[in-house]
Amino acid sequence: METRRLDGRLLANQIQEQLKEEIANLPHQPHLAVILVGNNPASMVYVQMKRKVADKIGIQITVHNFPDSVSTEALVQFISVLNNDPSVDGILAQQPLPKQVDTNAVIEAVSPQKDVDGLTSKNQGGLMTGYPTLLPCTPQGCLRLIHQARQNLAGLNAVVVGRSRLVGRPMAQLLLNENCTVAQAHSHTQNLMEICAKADILVSATGVKGLITRDFVKEGAIVIDVGISKTEDGHIAGDVDAESVMGRAGWLTPVPGGVGPMTVTMIMSNMINIVKHEF
Ligand code: NDP
Repeated sequence: METRRLDGRLLANQIQEQLKEEIANLPHQPHLAVILVGNNPASMVYVQMKRKVADKIGIQITVHNFPDSVSTEALVQFISVLNNDPSVDGILAQQPLPKQVDTNAVIEAVSPQKDVDGLTSKNQGGLMTGYPTLLPCTPQGCLRLIHQARQNLAGLNAVVVGRSRLVGRPMAQLLLNENCTVAQAHSHTQNLMEICAKADILVSATGVKGLITRDFVKEGAIVIDVGISKTEDGHIAGDVDAESVMGRAGWLTPVPGGVGPMTVTMIMSNMINIVKHEF
């Protein structure tokens, strides 16, 4: 069978054009505040990508830099200033944060109304209970890609590998809300291969390079590769061994050029929802 490519770059560009039009009609220009700690090269690249898309579609972005040695208290205090600043619509702390920083405390410090990443307990709880909420960006982007392959997901078997607050857990919940039958796998899962091989939709978000090979994939499955890791020669690789699943998967996202551009685009989409109070 032919494996079709789910092109995140293409879809992201199309959505960005729509967002640009919407932004032009908003009562004010959305303003995103980004907190960047240290000089982790990957984080700097991600922030740069956000800046590029924000500039392209008309969102104001301010990056606040902090040294690697910053304390949890200093970040929480700064976030409280941003929470109370009416000129700031959305707040995002670029992860990963250094070891000495309590990431959960930083996430919870953000006002749920400005939580553009959809990571606070209030917004994650809203996703679970069906309360209107700001949705986490990567899972939202994955779902948009899945819908490119198939509109109605009701009754499909979905497997999500990974259970983080950022990706795995909200992804499973979004698929449940689409009426899929969802299994959530993680590092303690027994027989991962057999579980994955039953999936009509397989989302892998582990950061384990090449974890998903041909035998993990059901014929015709929609396979979404969230993982990002570095190869020995400095290239970026996903969780899926793309070469081996070719001809077995029905649809596959490339890495890079799949989930990444969609994540950035969903941040911008959430910014519009914040300004319109649509959540
Ligand atoms: P975390 O490290 O927080 O979570 C990884 C998850 O994978 C954990 O739940 C872990 O299980 C599980 N896991 C690890 N090894 C295995 C294994 N061998 N078998 C099954 N499950 C395993 O990472 P994130 O969720 O934040 O990110 C996941 C990946 O996605 C990373 O590579 C990250 O860089 C990438 N990413 C990509 C984005 C994009 O835009 N493309 C955005 C965000 C993340 P356990 O809970 O038991 O430890």
